[in-house]
Amino acid sequence: MSDCIFCKIAEGEIPSNKVYEDDEVVAFKDLHPQAPVHFLIIPKKHITSLDHAQPEDEPLLGKMLGLTRRLAREQGCENGFRVVINTGRDGGQEVPHLHIHVLGGPRPWKRNEF
Ligand code: 5GP
Ligand code: ZN
Repeated sequence: MSDCIFCKIAEGEIPSNKVYEDDEVVAFKDLHPQAPVHFLIIPKKHITSLDHAQPEDEPLLGKMLGLTRRLAREQGCENGFRVVINTGRDGGQEVPHLHIHVLGGPRPWKRNEF
């Protein structure tokens, strides 16, 4: 998709603060972080949204989900993290290229027992 901003980030045409890259996936810091740690994981392949993913994409989706944990730790999430996939207009998705938000970092105002 030539006019897709996240395809351009995946291809390096638009600069980003990458935290991970391999042949199928890129992860980079969100431009407008909503938490002390906030990065996005995207497939290099253009998939418009989770609602557009095909059964053959499921291994890739599983890989992306597995990466959340590893990258969250590397980025400093020591006590958990949130994973969000906004999907479609009613799901609040603004960039039409599938992406996983990973949000975390210290929330001193929240005190959990675990
Ligand atoms: P959505 O609302 O589609 O789930 O989230 C899109 C996210 O992409 C937003 O959190 C927004 O800050 C982020 N974003 C949009 N454009 C860019 C960009 O050019 N670079 C980076 N790093 N993040 C972006
Ligand atoms: Zn794209």
